[in-house]
Amino acid sequence: MLIGILAIQGDFEAHARALDKLGVKYVFVRTPEDLQGVDGLILPGGESTTHMKLLAETGLEPAIRQMAANGGAFLGTCAGAILLAREVKSPEQNSLGLADMTVMRNAYGRQLSSDVLTLPTKLREAPLEMVFIRAPIIEKTGPRVEILAEREGKPVLVRQGKVMASTFHPELTSDTTIHEQFLKLACNNNKKP
Ligand code: GLN
Repeated sequence: MLIGILAIQGDFEAHARALDKLGVKYVFVRTPEDLQGVDGLILPGGESTTHMKLLAETGLEPAIRQMAANGGAFLGTCAGAILLAREVKSPEQNSLGLADMTVMRNAYGRQLSSDVLTLPTKLREAPLEMVFIRAPIIEKTGPRVEILAEREGKPVLVRQGKVMASTFHPELTSDTTIHEQFLKLACNNNKKP
């Protein structure tokens, strides 16, 4: 199995450390060619407007859409979750639309400090430590989206088929649960030839 980590902007190194811990092979993705042979792609946190601009400039946007059409797995964290959403608000911007959800950017106010909360998830019995940094809120989800965790009644971790999105940063804690779940999705990959 080979995992790609989108490495054009943001905290991609932290995801690499999580995969190192799990002993998984990965490649940093900066061009469409880097997606060759990749079973799953991680879209890291950072600044989603810059990400979208660079995805268009590098030709990665159509390449990622093609990877999704071929059955690839995706994990988007914070800005990465914004990229995956079907609709982005505050302000409106273009996105990949791989998950049927509407997100509102910077929805917890303009604070630069982070919130660290320990909340229950459907993934396991013990709650999970979640780091929120200028996080979006998932306002609305479609019927195919499974909600795996919530904060104040709003989803913070969701899954639709092979697409997982968290509005928090699992790569910034020592807990690898979210990455392990994503690897399971990538592992069951029946990519078209
Ligand atoms: N506020 C950023 C955005 O809207 C996301 C922040 C993050 O990824 N930590 O793109």
